[in-house]
Amino acid sequence: MKSLCHRCPAACCRYIALPFDEPKDTEAFEEVRWFLMHEGVTVFVTEGQWYVSVTTPCRHLDAQSRCTIYARRPQICREYSSDGCDYRGGDYEYKLFFTHPEQIVEYARKRLKRKTKVPKKAKGKGARKAK
Ligand code: SF4
Ligand code: SF4
Repeated sequence: MKSLCHRCPAACCRYIALPFDEPKDTEAFEEVRWFLMHEGVTVFVTEGQWYVSVTTPCRHLDAQSRCTIYARRPQICREYSSDGCDYRGGDYEYKLFFTHPEQIVEYARKRLKRKTKVPKKAKGKGARKAK
């Protein structure tokens, strides 16, 4: 029986995904917003790690979506398995997934608001009036 890869248009060879530090301030969120302004770019979070993904086919794919350097393919390609891969789909559990800049703006607005939330003033005994 032919493997799944023989039926697949090489979905896993058509993008790169790079990890980056979780954005925690306005400047970092602005950078992510800039990523998302570009066609073919998405941002996702899985197992606590943030990634930027760029849709771009590998130069070593042939017209039949086969790898032309299979014996010399990079380690990352060797380690990738068709168990729960891109072609199977649905196996990814992204904690967060952004496809448009407006989504990260909204997320940042909530996150930064939460972060800067001022604790409620103590009431009753011991509470002092501000001068
Ligand atoms: S590992 Fe999955 S996505 Fe990659 S070629 Fe095989 S079936 Fe397609
Ligand atoms: S080197 Fe081969 S297996 Fe690796 S991404 Fe390119 S076409 Fe796919």
